[in-house]
Amino acid sequence: MRATRALIHLDNFHHNIQQIKQHLHSSVQLCLPVKADAYGHGALRIAREAEYAGVSYLAVASVEEAIELRTADIALPIIVLGVPLPEDIADIITYRIEPLVFTQAFITQLNKKAAEQNKIISVHLKIDTGMNRIGCSPLEAAALARAIADSPYLALQGVATHFAVSDSSQQADGDFTRQQLNDFNYAIQQIKKQGISIPLIHAANSGAVQHYPEAYFSMVRTGLLAYGYNADSNNETALAVKPVMELVTQVVFIKKIAAGTTVSYGRKWTAEEDTVIATLPIGYADGLRRSLSEHLRVRIGKSLFPLAGTICMDQCMIDLGLESTVQESDDVCIFGVAEKDNTAATLADLAQTVPYEITCGISKRVPRVYTNSPLSPL
Ligand SMILES: *Cc1c(COP(=O)(O)O)cnc(C)c1O
Repeated sequence: MRATRALIHLDNFHHNIQQIKQHLHSSVQLCLPVKADAYGHGALRIAREAEYAGVSYLAVASVEEAIELRTADIALPIIVLGVPLPEDIADIITYRIEPLVFTQAFITQLNKKAAEQNKIISVHLKIDTGMNRIGCSPLEAAALARAIADSPYLALQGVATHFAVSDSSQQADGDFTRQQLNDFNYAIQQIKKQGISIPLIHAANSGAVQHYPEAYFSMVRTGLLAYGYNADSNNETALAVKPVMELVTQVVFIKKIAAGTTVSYGRKWTAEEDTVIATLPIGYADGLRRSLSEHLRVRIGKSLFPLAGTICMDQCMIDLGLESTVQESDDVCIFGVAEKDNTAATLADLAQTVPYEITCGISKRVPRVYTNSPLSPL
């Protein structure tokens, strides 16, 4: 196996699910987003662990992602969070996928196709309360819910919205989120006033799970927390979650260089004195972002070493200095799950992005190695 691997600590994943459950009221169900290959952790394996952990729902971005889970015998209900297209309808019916719906035209089409096959399709009405991505306006919600209720082959399984700044503890962002909640509650009331029952009401992402208990309703959709990162880390609302992904590699080549020698493309790094350089078989094609070149330090044993020069596509170099005892084939932790290590969140800060982009960005050629699962080997 390649020296470069992503270790997926499933004990931490289960710990996180328990932490989230404890944080919620006992009646609140958990929907786990496993879109983008479970934020890079491997959707299939994470979905199986989630079933075992008592998660109620999975969420993916596209019908294709849902089919991948269904064909691997994942039985949990699956919501698709993206916009369903008319050409997706056959698969939605075949694979028992629950789409978000928010236009009369799609509701009509879906009901018609479902009728042809004599199947009842569960749908979730998506209301846009301020994200301005997808969904109907709160003012249209009651009429669309009515249209769903009046469609004999559709079942209104849920009503949902999504927050834009629920991860922030800034005052203005709090005001915005509370306005989103008000508009959502208004739409729900209008729907209920017509005697339409709503089995599931869901709104909260990880940020809202941290900050807004009034947004839990009957189910939350929390991804980031499950993978071990708080949406708002500098806040007393942080949950005691642990990162699930560790990115490791090995030293594959060591050499001594003289003061004044440059390392890597662009010759942007020059040895100030004689030193020892180690080469690692990991680069930006593995998801180690090039913008980290000047900032990142990696751990070998108990010591941290800075990168030397620009990260290449498949390799990068580190400066060991003259004193280290590091040898070829020593293990290297790029980011980890322990207190002492950088995590994906540290790299995100260094690269001025979010932890989601770091873990999703660990590319396909990096094998995922699953450890410490309470499940029997699959
Ligand atoms: C990705 C996503 C979530 C999960 O967000 P986290 O911040 O990872 O908890 C919830 N809802 C929707 C609609 C999403 O797209």
